[in-house]
Amino acid sequence: MIVGIDLGTTNSLVGVYDAGFVTLIADEAGQRLTPSVVYYPESGAPLVGRPASRMRAIHPESTVFSVKRFMGRRGGEEVSGIPYRVAGSAGSPLQIAIGDRRLSPEEVSAAILGKLKADAERALGVEITKAVVTVPAYFNDAQRSATKRAGELAGLEVVRILNEPTAAALAYGLDRLSEKTKVAVYDLGGGTFDVSILELTGGVFQVLSTNGNTRLGGDDIDAALVRHLEEACGFQAPDPAARARLLEAAVEAKHRLSDLEETVVSIPFLESGVSREVVLKRADLEKVALPFVEKTRAHCLRALADAGLEVAAIQELILVGGSTRMPLVRSYAGGLFGRTPNCSRNPDEAVAEGAALQAAILDGTLSQVVLLDITPLSLGIETFGGLMNVILPRNTTIPCKAGEMFTNAVAGQSSMLIRVLQGERELARDNWELGRFEIPFQALPKGQARVGVQFEIDANGILAVLARDTATGLEQVVQMTSAVEVSDEAVEKMLEDALENAFDDMNARVFTEAKLKAQEMLPSVTKALAVAGDRLDDFERSRIEACVDEVKKALEVEAAQQLKRAVANLDESTQTLAALVMEIAMQGAGPRRGG
Ligand code: AMP
Repeated sequence: MIVGIDLGTTNSLVGVYDAGFVTLIADEAGQRLTPSVVYYPESGAPLVGRPASRMRAIHPESTVFSVKRFMGRRGGEEVSGIPYRVAGSAGSPLQIAIGDRRLSPEEVSAAILGKLKADAERALGVEITKAVVTVPAYFNDAQRSATKRAGELAGLEVVRILNEPTAAALAYGLDRLSEKTKVAVYDLGGGTFDVSILELTGGVFQVLSTNGNTRLGGDDIDAALVRHLEEACGFQAPDPAARARLLEAAVEAKHRLSDLEETVVSIPFLESGVSREVVLKRADLEKVALPFVEKTRAHCLRALADAGLEVAAIQELILVGGSTRMPLVRSYAGGLFGRTPNCSRNPDEAVAEGAALQAAILDGTLSQVVLLDITPLSLGIETFGGLMNVILPRNTTIPCKAGEMFTNAVAGQSSMLIRVLQGERELARDNWELGRFEIPFQALPKGQARVGVQFEIDANGILAVLARDTATGLEQVVQMTSAVEVSDEAVEKMLEDALENAFDDMNARVFTEAKLKAQEMLPSVTKALAVAGDRLDDFERSRIEACVDEVKKALEVEAAQQLKRAVANLDESTQTLAALVMEIAMQGAGPRRGG
C-alpha cells in the first residue's frame, strides 16, 4: 500500500485511497492536520505536531517550524522570521541549530514524515514503506532530492514526487475525466504561493504552465499582523516567549476573521504583567493582508501568458492552501480569473487527497489517469562565448529526455567542462549553475570532436546529465543533487529578470554569436585574400576590404546588430573569393590524386 503525503510548510497530512475513495488519516487525538512543527527537548525523542506546536511559545529556540523553506538550501543566505537558529557557512548545506545539536532540514522533515507514517500504520494496521510526497511546483532539483532523502530517513521510499497544484487538480478532477477543461489552481499556503494552469482531456492532466513565489503566504500576513498589533494597538513583546504568544494570538485572530466580521485579540500578561486586548475587524486584517495578496496577481498573469491563454479560457478556478480560506483571497482570486472559485473541497486537504490518488494510480488500484508535469525553468549548458544553450526549454512535459551535439572550440582540446544551468537568461552567468563536470574526449582539430550531451528528467523531476565522446564512447552521467546557491527570491526573480532584460540579453547573444563568427571569418578571409586575392577585380577586392573594416569597427564599438549585419555582408561579399580558393585547392589536389 502506498500512501500520499502532503508535506506542507505549515501543516502536513497523510491519506490513502481505499475502496473507491480517499481517506485522510487522523492521529491518536483524532486530528487530520499535523502541524509541521518539531520540538527538540534537551534529551529524549523529539515531539512532532500539535504537542510540538504548544512548545513553540515556551521554547521557541528549540521548536522548528516552516522547515520546508530550508529544504535543499545552503548556508550564508539571510534568514528571517524564525526564532530558532540556522547554521552553515556560505556554500555548505544549511543546518538547524538546537543548542549544540546540528540538524539537517531533511532530518526535521523526516521527524514529521515519521509521525505520519506511524499514524498511517496504526490506522491501517499494516507497515507502510512507500509514499507519494508533494512539493511546490517551484521546488528545484536540490529541494526535490532533499524531500526524497527526508522520506528515506523516515523509512519511506518516495516513489513519486508530485507537484502540489497537480495533486490538487487531481483531487478536483477525478470525477470529471471525460470532460475537456482548463483549470487554474491558485494555491496560497503558509509559506508558498503557486499558480498552475492545467488542461484536463480524456483522463490526461497536462500542466500547461506554472508560476509562483516560494516566499509568499500566510506567514507574511501573520508577521504583518503582529507588526500592526505592535504599532497600531500598542502590544509589546519584550522576549522570544512573548513574541511567540503574540504571533500565536495574531494567527488565531486571522483564522477567526475568515468567519467573523470582528474579533477580540486578548493576551494576558504579555509584557511584565500587563495584559493587552483589542477589537480587530476583518477590514483591519484585510488592509494588512492586501499587499501580500496583490503579489499573486503578476504570477497569475504570467502563468496565463505562458500557457498562451486569455483569462476567459479558464473554465475552473480551484483554490488550495489554508490562506485561501480568507474571504479576501477568495474574492481577489475570483476577480483575477473572472469566475467564482470552486471551493468544494477542503483547501487544506485537496493536495493530500491528490497525493493519495496518485499513490493509488502507482500501485495500480486506480488506472484511468495519466499525469503530465512540466519543467518550471529552462535547463541547458554553457557554450562558446558564455551563452546559455537551452536543452530542455521551460514548460517541457516531464518525464523527458533531450540532447544535443557539441564540439571543441580549439584544436587539440581534450576535455570539455559541462556547466549545467537552469534559468531563462541568455548569458550563462545570469543563470544558476546546478553542477559542473569535465568530460574528456579525443583531441582533434577544431570543430571535429563530437560530444553528445543529454538531459533526462525522471518522473520525480530529478535531472540526470549524460555526456559522451562519440569517438571513444566514453561517457559520464551525473545526477544533479547539489543545492543551487541562490536565494529563493531569486527563483521568482528569474522570470521577472528575463522579461526585464529581454532586450539587452538578446543583444548580448546576437553580439556574442556574431563575434564568434567574425573571429572565425577574419583570419580565413585574410588567408584567402593572400591565396586568391590577385584573381579578383579591383571592385570586388575593395568591397571585401570595406566589409572587413566594417566588421572590425562593429567589433570595436560592440554594436550587436551592426556586427551581425557586417558579418552577413562579409559572408556575402566573399562568395566569389571562397569559390576561387576552392578551385585553387582542387587544382592543387588534382595532379596528386591523378598521380
Ligand atoms: P497550508 O500551508 O496550506 O497548510 O496553509 C497554512 C496557512 O493557512 C497558514 O498561514 C494559516 O494561518 C492559514 N490558514 C489556515 N486556516 C485559515 C483560516 N481559517 N483563515 C485564514 N487563514 C488560514
